[in-house]
Amino acid sequence: MEQQLIKLLDKDLECTDFKIKDTQVIMAVRSQKREGICPYCGRPSTRIHSRYEREIQDIPFQDKQTILLLKVRKFFCDDPECGFKTFTERFDFVRPSGKKTDRLIEKIVMTSTRLSSVSAACLLKADSVKVSKSTINNLLKKNAGDCG
Ligand SMILES: [Zn+2]
Repeated sequence: MEQQLIKLLDKDLECTDFKIKDTQVIMAVRSQKREGICPYCGRPSTRIHSRYEREIQDIPFQDKQTILLLKVRKFFCDDPECGFKTFTERFDFVRPSGKKTDRLIEKIVMTSTRLSSVSAACLLKADSVKVSKSTINNLLKKNAGDCG
C-alpha cells in the first residue's frame, strides 16, 4: 500500500520502510531513477559522490503527522564544460532545501490566508500538521497572491 501512496507524490519514488507510530507516519523513500540530471548543464550522470538523508514533512495521513525520510544522492557532473563538479538530485515535489513538500505548503497557505497565524497554527496542529507561526508568516509572504 505504501508503494502506491508514495507514487501519488512522485511516480519515480519507492518506499523502503514504513512505520506507523502514535502520532506520526514515517516513510523512508528514495528515487528509483538510476541517474541524476545536472541542474546546471542538463547532462545525466550515474556517478555517485555521496548520499544523505533529508527529513521532509508531507500532508498528514490518517490524521497523523507524516514524515518522509528522503534518501538523496549527490552526483559528479562529468561534463568538462559545466562549471560544477557535483550536484544534488532534485525532486519536483519539494524545493532544493525545503523541509515541507510543496503540497503541504499549499495546504498551509490555503488554511492560513484568511486566519491569523496563531489560529492557523492551532487549526493545522489539530489537523496533524506541525508548523510554527513564523513559518506561516514567511510562507504567506512568499506565496502571496497565489490563493486569490
Ligand atoms: Zn553539469
